[in-house]
Amino acid sequence: MRVVKYEDLAGHLASGNDFIVELGEQKGIGSSSLIIRKCGKTILIDRGIAFEGTGVDKLTTFPVGGNLEGIFIDLMIFTHVHADHAGLIVPTVLAHEESRVVFSEKTLEELKIVLADSLSIQRKEAKKAYLSGLPAPAAMFSEDDVSTFMARVKAGYYEVVNTDEEDVWITWEDWPDWDFGFTFSGHTTGSFISCIKTPDGDGIVATGDVSGHNQETTQGVKTLSKSFLEMADFRKCRRIILITEATNGNRNLTESQEAMDARLKTVLAETERKGGNALLPVFMVNRGPNIVAKLVRLGFKVFVAGGVRKTLAVEVGTEIVKRWKADGTVMFIENWPNYTNQIRTAARGEYGFRPIVTSSATLDQGAGVDFAIEMLPVPENVLISTGHRFDGSAMKEFFEIKNKPIGPGHTIVLNTTDAGGRQVKRTVNIRCGGYHFDYSAHSDRGELATFANRINPSVVFIKHCTKDGFHGLESALRSELEEKCPPINWARHLHLFELWFGTCNAQAPCHLTRGFFCAIICTRRSYGETDRFSTDFYEVRRGVPWSGRSAL
Ligand SMILES: [Zn+2]
Repeated sequence: MRVVKYEDLAGHLASGNDFIVELGEQKGIGSSSLIIRKCGKTILIDRGIAFEGTGVDKLTTFPVGGNLEGIFIDLMIFTHVHADHAGLIVPTVLAHEESRVVFSEKTLEELKIVLADSLSIQRKEAKKAYLSGLPAPAAMFSEDDVSTFMARVKAGYYEVVNTDEEDVWITWEDWPDWDFGFTFSGHTTGSFISCIKTPDGDGIVATGDVSGHNQETTQGVKTLSKSFLEMADFRKCRRIILITEATNGNRNLTESQEAMDARLKTVLAETERKGGNALLPVFMVNRGPNIVAKLVRLGFKVFVAGGVRKTLAVEVGTEIVKRWKADGTVMFIENWPNYTNQIRTAARGEYGFRPIVTSSATLDQGAGVDFAIEMLPVPENVLISTGHRFDGSAMKEFFEIKNKPIGPGHTIVLNTTDAGGRQVKRTVNIRCGGYHFDYSAHSDRGELATFANRINPSVVFIKHCTKDGFHGLESALRSELEEKCPPINWARHLHLFELWFGTCNAQAPCHLTRGFFCAIICTRRSYGETDRFSTDFYEVRRGVPWSGRSAL
C-alpha cells in the first residue's frame, strides 16, 4: 500500500499494474469514488459528494480530481442515487464521453427528482448569496448539463439495468473475457452490488451500500445469491477481491425493526391521546418513503411535505400512492399559494391526527424547518428522528438540549428563508417531546461480517467507514475466520493498493492459506473503433426475478 498524490494517478494508470485507489472519503465516510485499475481497464465506481457541518456553515467535500479530466475512464458504475455516491454523476459522465456508464432504472427515476432538487437548491443558494452581497457558490452542474445527460439516457448511451426486478450479467463484445454482474443490494430502491469477472480470472465484488435487513420498502440482502453467482460461474474465479462498505462496521443494531415499530406506534398513540401532533423530518430518498409506508402500515394517516411527495411514488409505487391519496390515508401539502397556511393547519393537527413526514432530516433547511418553528414550542407535540443524527445539525442540537435538565436556555436557532428568499434565523423554544429511532439502511457489523464470510474472499478492502467502522468489521472477520482470515485492508483516501497478493498481505499474516501469487501483467487492449453506444452488441443474461430470489 502507498499513499499517493492525485497528480500521480495518471502515471500509476500508465504503469501497467493493477490497483485500487479511493479518491474520496477524506475523513470518515464522506464521498465515495473508487478507481479500479485491472487488466488495462480503468473502472470508476461512484463519484459522490459529502456534506459536513450544517446550516450556513455547511461544507461540501468533493473527491479529488475535479471531473477526472485527462484520465481515460473505460467504465463508470453508479451504485445508487445517494449524493455521497452519485452526487457528481452528471458532470463526471459528461466529461467522459469515452466511458461506458452503468446505473439502475430506479436510480435513474430517483435521479430525475434529485437532480431537479439540486438545481433548485443551487438557484436558491445563488439568490441568498446575491441578497447578502456574496459571490454565488460555484455550481456543480447546470440545467443544460442535466438536459444533455437525460437526452443521452433516452438515446441509449448508458446501460440502465433493472436490478430491483432481476439479476443481470452483461458482456460486451469489445471487452472479451469480462463479465459484469449487478444484483440488488437491499440499501435503497435502485441500489446494487457489482461483480466483475476479469480476463485474468479474478473476481471483484464491490458492495456499494448494502443492507442485510429488511426495510419497509426493500428486502434485505444477506449475501450474494447462488443463482446470481452461477449465471457467470463466479465461484470459479481464481480469487475473489471483496470491496465492502462498513458504515456500521463498529455497531450492531440493538433494537429489532419490530421492537422499534412497536415503540414508534406507542409514542404516536400517546401523542394523539394528549392532543399533540408528530413531526418526522426525513431524507427524501429512502427514509421518507419508508417512514410514510411504515406509518400507514401501523394504522396512521400521514401528512407529507417536501421532496418526499415525489420519491414516494418511485419507491412505494404510483398506484399505491394514488390510492392512499384518494382515500385520504396520505395527504400531500400543496404548493403556493396554500403552502404556508397548510403548514400551520397541519402543524396544529387541524387535519386530524396526522404525523408529518417532511424533508430535511437534519432540520437545517427545507420544509421541516417551517413545521419545526410551529411545532417545537408546543408541549403536547413530538419531534421524531428516524435515522442518524449528524454532528452539528439542528436535529442533533435538539436532542442535546432535550437531554439537559429543565431550565432556561431551551431554545434552538433554525435557519429559514423569508418570502423574498433571504436567509433568516428563528429562535425557537423547545417544549415538545423528542424520540429517536435508529432505523438504518446499512448492514450492521454482524450482517457485514456474514456477507463477507459467505463470499469467501481472498482479500478484503473495507471502505466508506470511520476508523472505528474499519476496526469493528476487521475484528469481526478475524474472530470469525481465525487462521482462515484473508488479508484485510482499509481502502481510504488516496491509499493505493496494488492487486498482487504480495502487497495485499502486507497487513495480515494469514494470507498463505488462500490463493496464490498473481504475476500476470495485462497489457492494455487496443480500444478499437466500435461505436460504444449502440445497444445491440452486448449480451445480457437475465437472472432470477426478485420475487423468486431467496437470500442464502
Ligand atoms: Zn447510500
